[in-house]
Amino acid sequence: MDSEIRICQNCSKSFTIEPEDFNFYKKLQVPSPTFCPQCRLIRRLVWRNDRYLSKVNCRLCGDSTLSTFTKDSGYVIYCPSCYRSDDWDPMDYGVNYDFSKPFFTQFGKLMKRVPTRAKSGGYATLINSDYTNLTSNLKNCYLIYNSDYSENCIYGSEIENCKDCVDNTMINGCEQSYGNVNCQKCYKIFYSSDCIESSDIWFSHDLIGCMNCFGCVALRNKNYHIFNKSYTKEDYQEKIKELSDGDYNKISKIESKVREIYLNTPQRYVHGKQNINTIGDYIYNSKDVKNSYMVIGAQNCKYSMWLMIPTAKDCWDYTGYGNNVDQIYETLTASKNTSNVKFSNMISTNSLNVEYSRNCRDVQNIFGCNGLGKKQYCILNKQYTKEEYEELISKIKQHMNDMPYIDKKGRIYKYGEFFPFDIAPYAYNQTTTQEFFPIKKQDAERLGYRWQDVVDKNYIPTIKIGTLTDSVNDVPDSIINEIIECAEWGNEKSKIQNCTKAFRVIANELDFYKKHNILLPRSCPNCRHYDRIKKRSSIFLYHRKCMKEGCQNEFETSYAPERQEIVYCEKCYQQEVY
Ligand SMILES: [Zn+2]
Ligand SMILES: [Zn+2]
Ligand SMILES: [Zn+2]
Ligand SMILES: [Zn+2]
Repeated sequence: MDSEIRICQNCSKSFTIEPEDFNFYKKLQVPSPTFCPQCRLIRRLVWRNDRYLSKVNCRLCGDSTLSTFTKDSGYVIYCPSCYRSDDWDPMDYGVNYDFSKPFFTQFGKLMKRVPTRAKSGGYATLINSDYTNLTSNLKNCYLIYNSDYSENCIYGSEIENCKDCVDNTMINGCEQSYGNVNCQKCYKIFYSSDCIESSDIWFSHDLIGCMNCFGCVALRNKNYHIFNKSYTKEDYQEKIKELSDGDYNKISKIESKVREIYLNTPQRYVHGKQNINTIGDYIYNSKDVKNSYMVIGAQNCKYSMWLMIPTAKDCWDYTGYGNNVDQIYETLTASKNTSNVKFSNMISTNSLNVEYSRNCRDVQNIFGCNGLGKKQYCILNKQYTKEEYEELISKIKQHMNDMPYIDKKGRIYKYGEFFPFDIAPYAYNQTTTQEFFPIKKQDAERLGYRWQDVVDKNYIPTIKIGTLTDSVNDVPDSIINEIIECAEWGNEKSKIQNCTKAFRVIANELDFYKKHNILLPRSCPNCRHYDRIKKRSSIFLYHRKCMKEGCQNEFETSYAPERQEIVYCEKCYQQEVY
């Protein structure tokens, strides 16, 4: 089959369906998509709220619990222990399929009737880590998201196997570290990005196997370097003292000096290693993976993201997070020995042949179900025999095409589309979508996405951080009782990144800052998060040519053509750096 150009129903831009895409759709017996890959990703991501938690009361036991849903969301919210209990049965909410209404209208209603989990993650594996979401196996962690197997970590996301870390994004196997993006196996690393197996590092980028480096870029196995220059141990220590005397204004000067070195040093066109035939960024140990982002140990996948636990095989439009899965399509979060899942959200543990379902585990042959475990042959939470199920399923698919759901912007959802924006449980700006595809309220309204205005939580700040002395060691311990006003509050940026107006410094955090001579943060955790993710590669890909003179190599890179970096192909980069 040849490739075909289509017009996206959502953004009206053209997109190409390649022969390999058609083959995949044929194999999974699904129609070809009517949304472009980016709009498909956005449509899935609006079902995922990592960071916006509020207190609600569990509808079953009445206790206060932290939730990704708001009080007025219209969902029946159960706290984690009630949700896991035998005190309720999702099958009690089962309904007959109604051929007088579109499927998605019926599913949207079912979602609001069946109790839903207050938030997601491995609740039973968390020790003193209630204030986290999408996490498992944590001990003494606070406000971290999408993270696992860590201890004493505060603020951040994608924190894996870490200990004593504050304010990081995408770190794995790190200890005693602050303010980093995409670092692995580092110890005492601060304000840095893209570093591996390095220790005692400050304000650096792209270091491997280095120790005692400050403001360095693209070094390998170096010791005692400042701004890419070598020093003796004694001179290094002397100079460092002067650079990190706790003067806040020095940070921006240091950062601009590092940026200058960075912009004069060639960058590799992509992050990742040990791949065969891959296109995308942050891809590791994978084969035949295309147009994907943050993928480890996957094979034959496309338009996928956050496949963090190997393996994933033969998946298209699959967002999160692997662990021995195959044949997943148009799904947000499917994991753990799961196969043939389409148009679904949160399906796990030995599930097979699942369509249009949500929050189900250990299920086989289900369609349009919500909150089920250990069930098969169910539709809208109602039990059928195998024969009844198969007959009804083909009628429903026909009905979805004959009476499609049409949303308020005129987008048509037949069989083969993920859930419509209208029935998504969260507002666009409360979801991870806003991190990757930030928009303003007016855009959201124009596109028919829900929007939640930033609520002024009526915190009355007791202190402005600027009034404090610069050196963290002079900050009084009483700071932990203060409500500090976020430096970004009220500006345009703060509206986009859900600034919380004010924030606190907790006791463990203050100890950490004092121990490592880190300046107190000036903005709230949300604003800090948005500042940090600017250091992460974008999710967009651009076709570009290697910038080394004479090299003709071309590649797909997340560095946009207008960016200032010198971008090199693999070969030229290796020659330059090693
Ligand atoms: Zn589109
Ligand atoms: Zn409860
Ligand atoms: Zn803020
Ligand atoms: Zn080159």
